[in-house]
Amino acid sequence: MTYSLAGKRVWVAGHRGMVGSAIVRRLAQEDCEVLTAARDELDLTDQRAVLGWMHNQRPQAVFLAAARVGGILANDSRPVEFLRDNLLIETAVLTGAESVGVEKLLFLGSSCIYPKHAEQPIREEALLTGSLEPTNEWYAIAKIAGIKLAEAYRREYGCDFISAMPTNLYGPGDNFDLNASHVMPALIRKVHEAKLAGGAVTVWGTGTPRREFLYVDDCADACLHLMQHYSDAPHINVGSGSDISIMELTRLVMEVLDYDGPVVTDSAKPDGAPRKLMDSARLAALGWQPKTALRDGIALAYQAFLAGEGRGL
Ligand code: GDP
Repeated sequence: MTYSLAGKRVWVAGHRGMVGSAIVRRLAQEDCEVLTAARDELDLTDQRAVLGWMHNQRPQAVFLAAARVGGILANDSRPVEFLRDNLLIETAVLTGAESVGVEKLLFLGSSCIYPKHAEQPIREEALLTGSLEPTNEWYAIAKIAGIKLAEAYRREYGCDFISAMPTNLYGPGDNFDLNASHVMPALIRKVHEAKLAGGAVTVWGTGTPRREFLYVDDCADACLHLMQHYSDAPHINVGSGSDISIMELTRLVMEVLDYDGPVVTDSAKPDGAPRKLMDSARLAALGWQPKTALRDGIALAYQAFLAGEGRGL
């Protein structure tokens, strides 16, 4: 154990988001005090406000799960918000953390930081070895800057800041707005609606891209594991270790939701990167493994969707 959360004041920045809320759920099992700031109470892009809030609240550990996030279409159509807001949030929270003497901080990125044509499975070393996937480079550039800022604070000020790069996540609290969502919540919604209407399920692009998926509560568990057992400059991949084509995923979601209708593809929509599978061997070597099988995770995510636990519904 490199860091104990016991008795600590732990701030989850972005606690209303899918990952942040999963981290809050997971922290309930630890003997610590969870701090959160409501969106109308604190604008995370406002550095002065963040600094003031942190001086008052004095967090000892921070999970930085706040970010402007979205699927392939949202990223492509709102480049300013994806680049600027994420840069502002990272800068504000990391600067504040150094200023108030936070003992440990975990910064969350995403697998889209890696080059479009990175060798698969993608190792941590692939960062900055090639050009990015253009549909999400705005978000990716901001997240790469965040990793580097955490690393720079470690190097220059000796801060114990670490970074985790999760693969595609899904689960309760996801965004089900079809124009902004990632593929998993989109498919859950589309299959559900097709089942009700007895119609076809529309898959964007060709259905041939391959993606890796991790249930969000597994990701939260991995984040706590890293917080407690990892303290070094390199960022760590957080994945499930296997990938699936979008068409296979569509069929799996249809099986779980028990719908056997037609599937059509919409070639006007982009495919994005051909494959994104991460090498999570480092995380495994640190003693962590995912627990939720894809089929079970989809069933849980569908229950959450039916219960209205998500955005864009
Ligand atoms: P990405 O991993 O950054 O590319 O983001 P997404 O999760 O949005 O998309 C993953 C893949 O799923 C891409 O190849 C999309 O074209 C494909 N896809 C198929 N249907 C959908 C859909 O309804 N919504 C989204 N967002 N992606 C879809």
